[in-house]
Amino acid sequence: MSDEMPVRDSVTIVGASLAGLRAAETLRRDGFPGRITLIGDEPHAPYDRPPLSKQLLAGDWEVDRISLSPTERMSGLDLDMRLGQRATALDVSAHTIDIEGVAEGYDCLLIATGARCRTLPGTEGLAGVHTLRTLDDSIAIRDALRSGPRRVVVVGAGFIGAEVAATAVGYGAPVTMVEALPVPMGRVLGDTVGDVVAGVHVDNGVDLRCGVGVDEVCGAGRVESVRLSDGTVVEADLVVVGIGVIPNTDWLDGSGLTVDDGVLCDETCLAAPDVTAAGDVARWPNPRYGEVMRVEHWDNAVEQGAHAARRLTLSDEEAEPFSPVPWFWSDQYDRKVQLAGRPRPDDEVSVVDGSFEERRFAAIYGRDGRLTAVFGMNRPRQVMQYKGLLERGASWSEALEFAEDQI
Ligand code: FAD
Ligand code: NAP
Repeated sequence: MSDEMPVRDSVTIVGASLAGLRAAETLRRDGFPGRITLIGDEPHAPYDRPPLSKQLLAGDWEVDRISLSPTERMSGLDLDMRLGQRATALDVSAHTIDIEGVAEGYDCLLIATGARCRTLPGTEGLAGVHTLRTLDDSIAIRDALRSGPRRVVVVGAGFIGAEVAATAVGYGAPVTMVEALPVPMGRVLGDTVGDVVAGVHVDNGVDLRCGVGVDEVCGAGRVESVRLSDGTVVEADLVVVGIGVIPNTDWLDGSGLTVDDGVLCDETCLAAPDVTAAGDVARWPNPRYGEVMRVEHWDNAVEQGAHAARRLTLSDEEAEPFSPVPWFWSDQYDRKVQLAGRPRPDDEVSVVDGSFEERRFAAIYGRDGRLTAVFGMNRPRQVMQYKGLLERGASWSEALEFAEDQI
């Protein structure tokens, strides 16, 4: 830790999940000797979310496989862990936080409260309609899939939709996936690559309906069908809604922080004196892109959790900007999909390895003479190579030359 470090007796972390736990681990690894309080409103010890739509949902893994930290390592962190407790208010000028309505002082604070699922209006209380964010959500959907033949409708072909559709197909369930955009994952991947993802789902038997919305989820007490905006009705026993998330910031109303689609931070992840934020809940200007962004992926929660924790121990002069190249993976059927960078739907796309037809390829994205992203379908090595170029700020022509050299 820095000699110049402001003296800290304790750190309070809100959100006992990926970013929060990685923050606590970073503090201990760096030698922070004080009290670390980790507050989480879920009853479970910190667990990993990616398997919730993949191995756990498929029934390939049991719950004990998704722990984020073995018991021994966890106890080595010597945390004041408060599970099943919700932070309900914050006052940054008074340095107080309310836990379950009771105010207590904090020394410095890291906010890692993540996000919750958007819901489809009109589906509240309708049995058989699910969202997927938590362990309990995943178990409920898994149990429904296990309980016999199920006609599954997945609303939204983003990350949750695409992964749940792939896993549900593994149960032999007939799956319909409904997406308002022309292709799955189109907002992130653009139409050209999104169209290849569409092909993978269709090849695996998914009834993919793109360019249509959901007008109504119908049923008396339990879901029976879904009426689409093109007038068609799809029968359903199980509906999984994956239409995006809302950052968990309600408890910050009146806190003195700026909340605008997440907790607004500076380049170093500082939201106010002695307060940082990390993970799905944090918005910050990433200097690499000159863009204020919020990133909803695993790697960002890990890296930003660590960065925001260290920021609390550094003076303003020592603090460094958080400037990652965002990165994610997604598993769908036997395909490992990975993307590094920040593509836009209208970027130029060039295949640099494999082909769309084989559904095994690496493609690079470019804009204004710069390399902006790399996408891989079963091409992990190539994704990491081009991620290196992205980190070095490579131009589009450099990336194309690199591709030529690989042939
Ligand atoms: P979260 O994991 O959301 O944790 C925040 C925690 O804070 C939660 O436990 C929440 O209940 C708690 N909390 C909220 N409000 C309060 C409060 N007021 N008081 C106390 N506690 C509170 N990313 C990838 O890159 N690859 C993948 O394959 C992938 N798969 C995923 C699959 C699923 C099903 C899901 C849901 C996400 C997946 N992600 C994946 C995304 C990744 O898991 C998230 O980006 C990551 O979990 C974010 O971590 P976080 O710590 O910021 O927030
Ligand atoms: P998402 O990736 O944002 O995708 C939501 C999709 O639903 C978008 O395509 C969206 O289109 C569409 N949509 C929105 N409203 C709709 C409506 N009324 N009817 C039909 N479609 C609608 O969100 P998600 O898939 O729900 O995922 C939730 C969170 O989990 C995200 O943070 C995601 O990053 C994370 N996650 C990540 C992974 C991974 O990285 N592998 C895996 C699973 C989950 P518009 O864009 O037009 O709104």
